[in-house]
Amino acid sequence: MKKVIIIGGGIAGLAAAYRIQEEIRNNAPVSCILLEGSDRFGGKIHTLRRDGFIIERGPDSFISQKPWAVELCQKLGLGDHLLGTQTDHPQTFVYLNNQMVTIPDGLSLMVPTKFMPFITTRLFSWPGKIRMGMDLFLPRRRGNSDESMASFVRRRLGTEALERMAQPLMSGIYASDPETMSLGATFPMFQQVEKKYRSLLLGMLAQKRKRATAPPTRKGDKPFSFFLTMKNGLSEIVDTLIAQSLDIQFRNNAPVESFRKQGNGWQVCLKSGEELEADAVILSTPANLAARLLEGWAPSIAARLDQIPYVSTAAVVLGFDRNRFAHPLRGFGFVVPHVENRKITACTWVSSKFPGRAPDDRILLRAFVGGAVNEALAEQDADTIKQQVRQELREIMGVTEEPLFCEVYPYIKGNVQYQVHHPRLVSEIEKDLVDFKGLYLAGSAYKGIGIPDCVKNGTENAAAALDFLGLKAELSQSGAA
Ligand SMILES: Cc1cc2nc3c(=O)[nH]c(=O)nc-3n(C[C@H](O)[C@H](O)[C@H](O)COP(=O)(O)OP(=O)(O)OC[C@H]3O[C@@H](n4cnc5c(N)ncnc54)[C@H](O)[C@@H]3O)c2cc1C
Repeated sequence: MKKVIIIGGGIAGLAAAYRIQEEIRNNAPVSCILLEGSDRFGGKIHTLRRDGFIIERGPDSFISQKPWAVELCQKLGLGDHLLGTQTDHPQTFVYLNNQMVTIPDGLSLMVPTKFMPFITTRLFSWPGKIRMGMDLFLPRRRGNSDESMASFVRRRLGTEALERMAQPLMSGIYASDPETMSLGATFPMFQQVEKKYRSLLLGMLAQKRKRATAPPTRKGDKPFSFFLTMKNGLSEIVDTLIAQSLDIQFRNNAPVESFRKQGNGWQVCLKSGEELEADAVILSTPANLAARLLEGWAPSIAARLDQIPYVSTAAVVLGFDRNRFAHPLRGFGFVVPHVENRKITACTWVSSKFPGRAPDDRILLRAFVGGAVNEALAEQDADTIKQQVRQELREIMGVTEEPLFCEVYPYIKGNVQYQVHHPRLVSEIEKDLVDFKGLYLAGSAYKGIGIPDCVKNGTENAAAALDFLGLKAELSQSGAA
C-alpha cells in the first residue's frame, strides 16, 4: 500500500485529497493523510454564519469561465448550490472624481468591445478615448518576454486606461500593483491576442464574435454568470469534500515542522514530535511557508520560493438594517483608482451582488484596504481600520447609519503576488524539483491564484503523484507544480 501525505488543507490540498479519494474508490492501493496546521480546513476559504448573514472572510466567489471549481462542485453533488450574481442591477462602478461612474457595458476586463457604451461613458475623457482607439493602429510588441500589466496597458491603451480601469481592477482582483504584476502569469490571453491580432480591440472583438457563434451551452445548463458562489457560502465546498472523502485521513491542528527524503520515501515530522512516512508528499502551503520546510535540504528551491512575495489586505464587513439605510445599492459595488487617494480599494455590496447573503431586512457590505499599493493600511490595528473605512463609506456613499456589526478580517501577508517573470521562476522551480522524486508543490503560488486554478493545480499534482507511484491516474489532467 503506497502512502501520500498532503501538507496544507487549503482548497489546493483538498482538491488533491479528493483526486486521491477518487482513485481509492477505484480500488487503487494507496492511503492518504492530509495534515493541516490550523484548527480548521479551507485555508483562505472561510465562511462565517451569524444572525442569518453569510459572511466570507476571504474569497467570496469564483469565476465560471475557468471550469475546474464548477466541475468539482458538480462531482460533489453541489451543482444545485452554485449561485450566480443577481440580475436586477448587474453594474459595477468606478469611484472617480467624487462620483460613481458605471463601468461601461461591453468592457471585457479593460478592453472596450461595444462602441456606443464606450463613446458615451464618463469613465474616460475624450483624449483618453482617442488614445485607447490608437490601439487599432499600433504595431505589435516584438519578442516573447514577460512585461508588467502597467507597461502593457500604457503601451496599448494609454495612461488613463491604466489609472481608471486596469489599476483598480487589478487591485480588486489580485491586490496587486500593475507596475510590478506579471502579464504573462495573470492575463496571458492579452499577450496571445496581441500576437495573433496585433490590436487588442480587434482581437477582443474577434473573440467576442467567435463566442457569439459558438454552439449553445448544453440543455439544462444554468444561465451564465461570470461570478459564482455557493448557496451556503464557499466553505460548503470544503465541508462537503471532506464529508465525501471517507478514505482520506484529514487531521487538523497538525502543523508540520519539517520533512525530508528518507530512503526511497519521505519522513514528515509534526510539531508534536510525531513522525510519519510517505512515498509521496504534496506540499500545498503558501510558498513562503513551503520555503521554510525546504531550506535545510533544498536551498535553491527555497530561495526561489522566497522570491514569490505576499502582501497584506484586510476586509471590513459591515451589516446594516435595510429600513434605515439611505443608499439604494443598485449594483455590485465599486472599485477605487489609486489616483483618487482614498484608503479603501473597493467595496462589494454583498447583499445586492449575491442572493441570500443577508436576511431580507438587512444589508451586507464588504470593503477592502491594503494590497500591494498600500499594504501598511491593512496592517494597522482593527479599530483604526474600522474608523477609516466607516469615514470613507460616509464620504463616498453617504453611509451615516450605525452598523449592526463591523468586523475586520486581516490577511497579513496573505495575498500572493505574481511579479514580472513569475512564469520563468515557476519553471525554474519545476526543473529543480526533478531532483526530488515524489515531491509536489501545489497551491496558489504557482500557476493561478483564483479558486478554480487552485483546484486544477491540486488535482493535477495528485494525478502526478499517483502516476509516480505507479497507480493509474486516469484523469486527463497531469503535471506538476
Ligand atoms: C482576502 C482574499 C480574497 C480572495 N478572494 C478571492 C475570490 O473572491 N475568488 C477567488 O477565486 N480567489 C480569491 N482569493 C484567492 C484564493 O482564495 C486563494 O488563492 C486560495 O484559496 C489559496 O488556496 P491554497 O490552497 O493555495 O492556500 P491556502 O488557502 O493558503 O491554504 C494553505 C493551508 O496550508 C496550511 N499550512 C501552512 N503551513 C502549514 C504547515 N507547516 N503544516 C500544515 N499546514 C500548514 C495553512 O494553515 C492553510 O490552511 C482571495 C484571497 C484572499 C487572501
